[in-house]
Parts: sequence; C-alpha cells; structure tokens
Amino acid sequence: MLQKRELILAIIFPSCYTFHRTDQFPNRIRTILFDFAKEYGSMKELQQENKECLTVLKPVLDAVIKRNPNEPEFHQAVTEVLETLEPVAEKHPEWVAAGIFDRIVEPERQIIFRVPWVDDKGKVQVNRGFRVQFNSAIGPYKGGIRLHPSVNISIMKFLGFEQIFKNSLTGLPIGGGKGGSDFDPKGKSDGEVMRFCQSFMTELAKHIGADTDVPAGDIGTGAREIGYMFGQYKRLRNEFTGVLTGKGLEWGGSLARTQATGYGLCYFMEAAMNDHGDSFKGKTVVVSGSGNVATYAVEKATQLGAKVVAMSDSGGYVYDAEGIDLKAIKEIKEVKRARISEYVNYRPNAVYTPGCKGIWTIKCDVALPCATQNEIDGESAQILIDNGCRIVGEGANMPSTPEAIAIFQSNGALFGPAKAANAGGVATSALEMSQNSMRYSWTFDEVDNKLHDIMVNIYKNISKAAADYGMKGNLVAGANIAGFEKVAKAMYAQGIAY
Ligand code: NDP
Repeated sequence: MLQKRELILAIIFPSCYTFHRTDQFPNRIRTILFDFAKEYGSMKELQQENKECLTVLKPVLDAVIKRNPNEPEFHQAVTEVLETLEPVAEKHPEWVAAGIFDRIVEPERQIIFRVPWVDDKGKVQVNRGFRVQFNSAIGPYKGGIRLHPSVNISIMKFLGFEQIFKNSLTGLPIGGGKGGSDFDPKGKSDGEVMRFCQSFMTELAKHIGADTDVPAGDIGTGAREIGYMFGQYKRLRNEFTGVLTGKGLEWGGSLARTQATGYGLCYFMEAAMNDHGDSFKGKTVVVSGSGNVATYAVEKATQLGAKVVAMSDSGGYVYDAEGIDLKAIKEIKEVKRARISEYVNYRPNAVYTPGCKGIWTIKCDVALPCATQNEIDGESAQILIDNGCRIVGEGANMPSTPEAIAIFQSNGALFGPAKAANAGGVATSALEMSQNSMRYSWTFDEVDNKLHDIMVNIYKNISKAAADYGMKGNLVAGANIAGFEKVAKAMYAQGIAY
C-alpha cells in the first residue's frame, strides 16, 4: 500500500515529493495529501516520511537518537524542530560547517543529584534532582523547575531544548534550561515540602546564580516551593539576588507574573485571530488543566469575551454549559488544594467526568491545552476538528502529539505552538529579573502592557519567519526558525565555545 501511495504522490507532486517537504505545501495540497494518507496509509507513516525527508540535518537527528536512547520526549522535541530547520540549514552552510546544529541539540551541562529528606514519620526519603543547562548563547540559563513523579532526564531535556527557542522568541536576553525532580508535592505536608525544597536547593545552589542560571516555577512548583527554595539559597549564599523568579511580591517578585503564561497565551491567540479577522469574542472555549496556566488562560479568555465551558485536572474534567465559575476553581485548587470533582458542589448543573481525554470530545471553537505534554493525540485532534474546532493554542509544553499537529495543520486550523504561545511566563520572569537588577518594581499595568506587546511581537515575528521561508501560516515552522536564528547567530559569533 505504501508503495502505491509513494508512486501516486511521486507522479502528482514530483518536485515536492522528491524533497519530501510536506510542510512547505500550500494548505489545499496538504489537505489532499493528508486525506490521501488517511485513506491509504497511516498518519504515522506520513510523519515518518517527514522525518526521513531530512537531508542536511539527518545526521544530526540520527546522532541524537543514537546518543540518547530511551528518551522519547527528547527525540520528539528535536525531531519537530529539525524538520522545520532544514531550509535554514540549506540557506546557511556556514552554520552547518560551524556545527551549530550538532551543538544546539547537546546540552551544555546536565546535572543529576540525590535529594534526601525526612518525612513526617521520621523516615528518610530519596528523590532524584535534575538541572539541564541547555544553551547560554544569548543569556543566563532560564527555565522552570518541575516537581512531578514522571520527571526523568528525557522530559528535562525536551523541556530544556524547547526553552532555548521560546526564550529567544521573547526578544529578551535569556538562555535555555530546565530542572526538576521526581518528588510529588501532592499529599505532602508543608513541612515535608519545605524539607524537600531545602535539600534540593542545597545541591542546586552550587550551579545557579542571578547571572548564571535563574530557575522558576513549573508543574508542582508554585509560590510555596519557590519561597522555600529562595530562603535556602539566601541562607547558603548570604546574598539577596534575583536567583529565582516567581517570587512573592514582598521579596522581589513581579506583579503579573502569576497571570503571565495564561494571559500571554490569550494575547498571542487574540493577535493571531485578529490577523485572520477574528477574535475571542463570542467563542466557546475548552481549557485543560486547572493549574497556574489554565486558571489565568480562563480568566483572560473570559475577559476577552469568550465562554469557557470545561476545565480538568489529572483525575477528570468538568463541563459547565453556563460558563466556568473561576472563583470556585480558584478556591478548590489554590485554597483547598482539592480535586476538580468538587466543582459540582459549587455548580450543581455542571457535570464531572473521570478521565482526562474526554475533555476534547466537548464541542468548542477554541481549544487551549494547558495541562501537560502529549495530552492531545491524533484521535482527540480529529474529534476536535470533526466538532468544528479550528483554533488551538498550546498553553502547556508540547501538549499535542506530532500526529495531532499534523491533523490541525492539514485541516487549516489556526495552531499556536507552545514555544511561542506560552512564552509569556518566561518573558515576565525576565521582566522580574530586570526589576530585581534595578531594585525597582513596575506596576501591574506596566508589566501587563509589556507582556501584551511581547506576545503580539512574537506572533508578528514568527508569522514573518514562516512567510520568509515560503511556509506562510505555518506557525510551528515560524516559531522554530525565528527562535533558532537568533541563537544560531550568537553561537556563530562566539566561536566553538560550547
Ligand atoms: P500546575 O502544576 O499549576 O498545573 C498543572 C495542571 O495540569 C493541573 O491541573 C494538573 O492536575 C494537570 N496535570 C498534570 N499532569 C497531568 C496529566 N498527566 N494528565 C492530565 N492533567 C495533568 O502547572 P502549570 O499550570 O504551571 O503548568 C502547566 C503546563 O504549562 C506545563 O506543561 C508547563 O510546563 C507549562 N508551562 C508553565 C508555565 C508557567 O509559567 N507556569 C510557563 C510555560 C509553560 P493535578 O492537579 O491533578 O495534578
């Protein structure tokens, strides 16, 4: 069957198919191709062909896969980026010769360490800590700390790699990094969380600093954890510096940082929609997750005139046809630290369904995945499309599988990739660093206005990059190219330093 497909494609689209550049086809042709692929083969096969389409960058991807076995998330992230950088490599042989592509996929430094702590019963517990310092070409390493049992080196490297391009897109001087631990803060007492954070920071402090590496929050790391880590760093170093972002307002935090990722996602998507003569106004929206990103995405989407009808946590999702009551969600999640299933006690007409995937079967105009990686697979993407959803903005990191992205793009959906759409959090973290350096604080509106401008600029820059390389409207390619080019120029100028 594959041979038949290849034959027909080779006849119909000889030049395109020869170069296997399915991402460079006009949308109409892509749709025909993907329909064809669905009928005669599988989407996976088509993606495999996309991977096989690499020419200049194929040895780079092969080396990554060989050198980093058993790291599927890292392979996925690198594949997605390299696929779209092939035309950049062709245009810049000097970057290929300088090994920019070979170097950018290898972290500058990876630190893995033991984190021992004592639980409330007096028992010694051992977790594993990570910090991946991926790229410092344009500024100190910057990226969050994830505390979740699923954390491993593959997830740290995928997140750190993505962070390089995201941070570059903000236009601010920050390099890429990521850290975390397989510690699960869920169900732990404040004392246990504090002892873990102090032990974690005791080792991490040797490797970070306001001008070296500035971690922040991520899944499982909120204001409480940042506070415990900052306190321990200050005690160890005897210095009060902006070594972490996401700090409390009384001790160096920035106004609007809490809201930044969710608000930024909506500013980005609103700019993209405006560019297509559309907006959030009157749209029905589904948002997965009920953590930091999801909460403030719901708040801003609602302010922009949309109605959000569903949210979730890792246990299940709630559907509220009249529109989500965010006050209730904040009380359940931020005050009680309870499960989203409790929402029906606040809103008796709402429906709770166990399991996460079902949230994508709810009919909506806009989907904002804001929970975790790979939460929308091909099947869910197809259901969203079949239900009329044509706008998807990624609040979480890599929430759509490659198959899901292919389905969104082939159906002409407006797809905002994470590294651009959720860059508002790290951009505001960089604004927090600036305020710390100046020992000065901006007002909420000052920070929020800067955030808004940054997100609109990111949209403009990535749209332009996509168009410049003949891929108009492909924001995935645009984000990878625009993010990469700035870092590549810096690495090239700095010689073979890393
Ligand atoms: P939080 O810990 O505040 O919230 C995460 C939410 O996702 C929770 O509702 C959680 O449910 C849910 N969740 C976690 N794991 C799963 C899973 N396996 N399946 C379904 N739901 C799950 O994290 P954030 O809101 O900070 O982060 C969410 C995403 O956004 C992550 O991908 C993060 O990397 C990304 N991001 C965050 C930024 C930030 O500024 N915070 C910046 C840029 C990206 P439960 O409570 O049950 O665990």
